[in-house]
Amino acid sequence: MSDTLLIDALRVIVGERGVVTDPHDLENYNVDWRHVFKGQARCAVLPRSTQEVAAVVRLCADQRIAIVPYGGNTGLSGGATPDDSGRQVVLSLARMNAIRDIDVLGETMEVEAGCILQTAQDAATQAGLMLPISLAAEGSARIGGILSTNAGGTNVLRYGMSRTRVLGLEVVTAQGEIVSGLRRLRKDNAGYDWKQWFIGAEGTLGIITAAVLQLAPQARHRVTALLAVPTPDAALKVLRAARHHIGETLNAFELMSGAALELVARHQAVKTPLASSDWFVLVEASSCLPGLRDAVEALFALVLEEGEATDGVIAESERQEAELWLLRESITEAEAREGRSLKHDVSVPIARIPAFLHEADAAVAQAFPGSRVNAFGHAGDGNIHYNVIMRADADGHALNRLVHDLVVRQGGSISAEHGIGQYRVSELERCRAAPELQLARRIKRALDPAGTMNPGKVMTLTQQAD
Ligand SMILES: Cc1cc2nc3c(=O)[nH]c(=O)nc-3n(C[C@H](O)[C@H](O)[C@H](O)COP(=O)(O)OP(=O)(O)OC[C@H]3O[C@@H](n4cnc5c(N)ncnc54)[C@H](O)[C@@H]3O)c2cc1C
Repeated sequence: MSDTLLIDALRVIVGERGVVTDPHDLENYNVDWRHVFKGQARCAVLPRSTQEVAAVVRLCADQRIAIVPYGGNTGLSGGATPDDSGRQVVLSLARMNAIRDIDVLGETMEVEAGCILQTAQDAATQAGLMLPISLAAEGSARIGGILSTNAGGTNVLRYGMSRTRVLGLEVVTAQGEIVSGLRRLRKDNAGYDWKQWFIGAEGTLGIITAAVLQLAPQARHRVTALLAVPTPDAALKVLRAARHHIGETLNAFELMSGAALELVARHQAVKTPLASSDWFVLVEASSCLPGLRDAVEALFALVLEEGEATDGVIAESERQEAELWLLRESITEAEAREGRSLKHDVSVPIARIPAFLHEADAAVAQAFPGSRVNAFGHAGDGNIHYNVIMRADADGHALNRLVHDLVVRQGGSISAEHGIGQYRVSELERCRAAPELQLARRIKRALDPAGTMNPGKVMTLTQQAD
C-alpha cells in the first residue's frame, strides 16, 4: 500500500487530526525522551477510542505494516522508538486519556491507556485514596506505557511493581480484536490470567487500551530519614531491623554510595546534612495510624547503638523530606554532568547485594582502570543502578558483559525495571537460558504470528514484519 493510500485510510478511521505526517511533528515520535534512540516512522496515528485502535491495527495487519505503540516516550530502553526503515507506524494512545470510573469502596480506578500517571494519581488522591505507582517520569509517562514496561519506581518495596496493581485489562490484539477483561475483582481464578502476558510485554504482543487499577488507602502519616552506614552489609542489617520494627509501613529503602552524593554536591549543589560516609540509606515509611514517628525513632536508636548506622537524621517538615529525596533524585543528573557513563539497571537477591558490589567493583577496577563506579538504587527491592563513569575510549560492550555476567552469577536480572526494548535484546539473549527464550518466542508467535507488533523489541525473530 502506498504511503498516500495508507494515510488516507488511517484518516478515515481516526480523523484528519489523528494522523501525523509532518516531518517536524514526527520528530517527537522518532526520538526517545533522552535522545538516545532514533528512528524514522512512516507516520504517527492517534486513535480516540478502543474501536479506532482496533480498526488501525486491522488495517496495518492486513498490509503487514509494523506498529510501534507509544505512551509518554519516557522509556529508557528505546521500546517506543521506531526503526529507521521509514515504514513503521507509531500508534500513540495520547488521545485516549479518560479516567472512566473510581470505585471508592472497592478502591479501584478504570482508566484509559493514554492517561498520564500523575493525572491518575491526582484523581485517586481527590477521591481520598492513592495510586501507589510513583517514579520521576510520572508527569509524562502514560498508564499504557507504565503497564507495558511493568514500571517499578520508589514504592515497589511496599506496593509491588505496576503489575501487582492491575485487576483488569482491555487490549487490542495483533489481529485487531478487542479483548476486554475490565473486571474489578481481587479474586478471579477463572482460567488463564491472560492480562499478565501483555503487562511488561513492551508492546510486542498487543496494545493495552484501558486498565482497572487497584488503589490503596491514603497513608496520612509519613516519616523520611537519612542514615549513614559503613557498608552495604550494614545497610542490609538496617533493612532487616526496619522490616522487623516498622514492617509494612516501609515504603522505600534507597541505598546511595558516598561517591554518588559527592557527585550530587559537586554538580547540583545539593548537600547531605550528615558528615561524609561510604554509604547512606534513605528510608521512607508511612501509615494511616499515628505513632509512626516514635517507632522510627526507636529503630534509629537501635541501629545506632548496634553500630549498623553511624549517624542519622529524621526530617522535621515536608520541606526537609523533599530535601532528603532531592539527594536521591539528583544522582542521575549529577552523573550525566560528570562525564560518559554506562548504566546497568540490575537486580540481585537482596542478601547478595554486598557480594555483587564487592565483586563488580574489583572486576571493573581491574578491567577498566580509571573508571569510577556510581552505585545506588532501590536496595529494598534488590535493585541496584550500577553505573560506571568511564574513559572515552573504554569498550562499553565489554563492560556491559562483565557486569551482566556477575549479575547472572549472583542469580540476578540484567533489567530490574527498565525493560529490554531495543537496547538490551542481545544481552537478554546472551544471559537468559535457552528454554526461557524459546518459551517467550512461542508466546510471541502464538499472539503475533505475523510479527507486526513492535518488531525488534524484547527479542529477535527470524521472520518479522517491515
Ligand atoms: C526521569 C525518568 C525516571 C524514570 N524512573 C523510572 C523508575 O523509577 N522505574 C521504572 O520502572 N522506570 C522508570 N523510568 C522509565 C519510564 O518512565 C518507564 O518505563 C515508563 O513506564 C514508560 O512509560 P511511557 O508511557 O513513557 O512509555 P513509552 O516510553 O512511550 O513506551 C514504553 C514501552 O511500552 C510500549 N507501550 C507504550 N504504550 C503502550 C500501550 N498502550 N500498549 C502496549 N504497549 C505500549 C512501547 O512500545 C514501549 O515498548 C524513568 C524514566 C525517566 C525519563
